[in-house]
Amino acid sequence: MLKRVAEGVLVHESEFLQSNSVVVQGRDGVLLIDPGITETELAGLANDIRDLGRTVVAGFSTHPDWDHVLWHASFGDAPRYGTARGAASIREVLSSADWKEQIAEGLPPEHADEIPMELLGLLTGLPAGAARVPWDGPEVRILEHRGHAPGHAALLIEDRGVLVAGDMLSDILMPFLDLQAAKPIDDYLAALRLFESVADGVDVVVPGHGSVGGAEEVRARIELDRAYVEALRDGRDPDDPRVGPSAPLEWLPDVHRWQVQQLTGP
Ligand SMILES: [Zn+2]
Repeated sequence: MLKRVAEGVLVHESEFLQSNSVVVQGRDGVLLIDPGITETELAGLANDIRDLGRTVVAGFSTHPDWDHVLWHASFGDAPRYGTARGAASIREVLSSADWKEQIAEGLPPEHADEIPMELLGLLTGLPAGAARVPWDGPEVRILEHRGHAPGHAALLIEDRGVLVAGDMLSDILMPFLDLQAAKPIDDYLAALRLFESVADGVDVVVPGHGSVGGAEEVRARIELDRAYVEALRDGRDPDDPRVGPSAPLEWLPDVHRWQVQQLTGP
């Protein structure tokens, strides 16, 4: 089911980890951001778009993780964009002979059989530094950073006051740092500053996973993510409900501890 969050901007929430797909209505068709997750959900989303009397004219993946680069044949063969770096990163994954096995290892077991791999990751990289998604619809600004993954982009639909955050600013997940990066903490803090610089114009924040937030949530989520990352930086235990004793996802505190371990080394 598509839920309207702003004029011409609709969100579909998946069963897996409250993953959000975003549909932006353009003149002749829609821009589809991070479609997910299962075969049934993707086919349903294609139907919902058809019911709007639209076709998919462009896709966009916020970053090169499996749950953000899925696609379904019924969306058609519109270009699926990503940042230059994001597209290069998933291309590298797909270039290894056993990429399906590699990705399958990380899939949630309860959904693994229902996740279509055929069209996974077939992105068209935009030119490095591209500032906008090339399509015939409301202007969509690309805010590229590398807070969570290489070539991660948040999208800002300025006219509508919507920030599509990708895997940041979630109410259910704490920041997942890019542990492969040289300076994961600095990168994450820089990304949060980038969000802060546009926050005044944001009325709706759509995280990759979790609840859609209103204007009052935008800065609160930036602050919560920043407090978490700064605690990691300073070697403190974060005071963060997402990884505390009553965390909404019971497995998350373990991932948090693992992340701290990775950052501090043996
Ligand atoms: Zn994700």
